[in-house]
Amino acid sequence: MAESHIILLPQADYFQWVRATRAYVLAFGVNTTPDPVKAGEFMNITVGISPNGYPEQGDIEAWLKARFASARIDPVRINFPEELESTLQARVASGERYGAAVVTSSTTTSTTTTSTTTSTTSTPADDGAFKLYWPTDYAVITQAFGANPEIYSKWGLPGHEGVDIRAPMNTNIYGGYEGTVFAVENNPDVHPYGKHVRILHKDGYRTVYAHLAQTLVQVGEKVKAKQMIGKADSTGNSTGSHLHLTLKKDGATARKETKFLGDVIDPTPFLIYPDK
Ligand SMILES: [Zn+2]
Repeated sequence: MAESHIILLPQADYFQWVRATRAYVLAFGVNTTPDPVKAGEFMNITVGISPNGYPEQGDIEAWLKARFASARIDPVRINFPEELESTLQARVASGERYGAAVVTSSTTTSTTTTSTTTSTTSTPADDGAFKLYWPTDYAVITQAFGANPEIYSKWGLPGHEGVDIRAPMNTNIYGGYEGTVFAVENNPDVHPYGKHVRILHKDGYRTVYAHLAQTLVQVGEKVKAKQMIGKADSTGNSTGSHLHLTLKKDGATARKETKFLGDVIDPTPFLIYPDK
């Protein structure tokens, strides 16, 4: 069973912070959140503390300790995403999940044994963990996961249930990871996702690629990571060509790992940004 651990990051420039956690996220299989309240659902909270990073809470470390007394707070004090990245990469290199500054209270369990994680993960692309290679030719997220709850509430959703990624009309859409195509919708008018492709991956992960102009794979087909699976468009409930990417993990809703129904989880920490 996965360790109950989350990384809390400043909401401003959230994706720059998320990106800085990539190697650590892949090494230790931990998610990130910009929401301090959600972070409180976890036993271990690694928190990136930048100056004025949490304008609502102020001193975020004190705020967390006051509200979530049984949680273990693992502060990482940084000024820039680059600092966060180097700090966390050093932890990955040493296999130390938490920083030395963490005071382990007597109530915490034996969570300090991290030796079972892979020993060398300096090249996250080769560590064998599920990940999402960038699915378009444009390294821009145009709508974040969980964004615009006021819009999505009318669909019964707590927020945007995936990430939108730039993909102009008829540009290439790639599968994020190897797997088997388990659903293809070629009718643009019967689902809010329009024409779309669904792929089943290892470890119970599933991805959905929505609003396509054209699908290029069949149900049952085995696909490789980065294989072209379709072309971008704006079919279904969409304004303007882009890719909507949804990630699901079987059982995530039942295990309360996500507040979304249908096992939808945040794909952001799994995304591998393309090399510039
Ligand atoms: Zn979307």
